[in-house]
Amino acid sequence: MKIRVMGEDVEAKLYSKSEMGDGKYSGRAFLLQGKIKIWKDMSKQVQEENLLHELIHYADEKMVLGLTEKTIIRLASFFHALISDNPEIFKFTPKLEE
Ligand SMILES: [Zn+2]
Repeated sequence: MKIRVMGEDVEAKLYSKSEMGDGKYSGRAFLLQGKIKIWKDMSKQVQEENLLHELIHYADEKMVLGLTEKTIIRLASFFHALISDNPEIFKFTPKLEE
């Protein structure tokens, strides 16, 4: 799927372990190529968390935040729970014209 990230299209796709490269990673972000690879042989929740994790890596590189891997893992977990528990989160305000 295509995800719009900070004004750029990023292609996020599921891959088998062998297609992931050296098999060390369950997710990879390729900033220059605009690609995110997620290992497909995981539960949907883990895939989603990995996608958020790689998107946070993207933000980290783009904005030169200097986040640690530990911080990225925690942020991905936080945002996954937040979005999963509140799927309507962006519908809380009426439209401006209303
Ligand atoms: Zn990472």
